[in-house]
Amino acid sequence: MANSKGLIPADIINEIKSKNDIVNYISSRQELFKRGKNYHGKCPVCGKLESFVVYPETNSFYCFACSLGGDIITYVMKTKNVDYKAAVSELAIIAGITPPEINPSSNNLMRDAAMFYHSQLKTNSKAKSAIDQLHAWGIKGKTIVQLGIGFHDNSFNCFIEYMTKQKSYTIAQLEEANLIAKSSKGNYCDKMRNSIIIPTIDEEGNVVCFDYYIIDKAQLYKYPNSDKFARSKHLYSFNLAVRSEKKSVIIVSSYEDYFKLFGLGITNVVATYLPRITNGQLDLLKKNFKVVMPFLPQYVNFSACDQYCKSNGMFCEDIRLQGCDSPIEYLDKYGVDTIVEKVAEFERIL
Ligand SMILES: [Zn+2]
Repeated sequence: MANSKGLIPADIINEIKSKNDIVNYISSRQELFKRGKNYHGKCPVCGKLESFVVYPETNSFYCFACSLGGDIITYVMKTKNVDYKAAVSELAIIAGITPPEINPSSNNLMRDAAMFYHSQLKTNSKAKSAIDQLHAWGIKGKTIVQLGIGFHDNSFNCFIEYMTKQKSYTIAQLEEANLIAKSSKGNYCDKMRNSIIIPTIDEEGNVVCFDYYIIDKAQLYKYPNSDKFARSKHLYSFNLAVRSEKKSVIIVSSYEDYFKLFGLGITNVVATYLPRITNGQLDLLKKNFKVVMPFLPQYVNFSACDQYCKSNGMFCEDIRLQGCDSPIEYLDKYGVDTIVEKVAEFERIL
């Protein structure tokens, strides 16, 4: 797994490799014959006799029959059929080193959780109602994948099972990440059941928030604020808006408004989670955009947003709802063309 490979510091990997002699390790598991400087034997993967060579000088091996080769970590992965992390852990224990990633970081945990939920949306046969709801919001196929949307069925512990058994996280870590709940009887269970799960991925690619929409209750539940995630300083889909490389950005307040625009092909758009846009959120936008385009119901703090832009050398261009109650209603009534033209105009003139 290339992903987990990059997360173990190189000096730890080097120490683990230098403290595990490849000839000692392999010869304790299969017969090797010394020939000159090197050792020969039967390939543990393809089974060909004499084709497998271990090179003590480079701490590596190679099979001339099946072309399998690598270091001691590769040997453990291939012969024990385990992933990179598990192979490193085993070798660390043999060498008397504390295995890395026994306590994987919270960044990895949130990403692993997002990947689990997203795979559930794609593969779980119970996800149909979730997919129907996403289609009703205006996103489908590729756009759902781009947003990394996930799903969790009614099961009480499929997430806990996966994260503790397949990914070696602890209950305490899952609890700290606010992804599991404790029942009145003291048992832990998955928190976001029968839900569409909407991750926020920050500009560095970290998953920082999971809001979830419980399908049969038709209600959105919010991930709590913490030391790591303050809603007032993040924006939904800021990463994709930056990637659009546009000079302007459209601001909506709800996921539904966001999905509607995104499904219509507008990617320079963010959602505030909250009815009002905060200065912390505008600070984020300032780094990448010259124009902010609030596309919000009338009661929000347009004048504060306008004031912020004036003090920070930006433009604030209101997209007026023209009597509609919400951006969705506006888009259903007037379509997306006026907005597309505004975005194109700012690209031309700025
Ligand atoms: Zn081979």
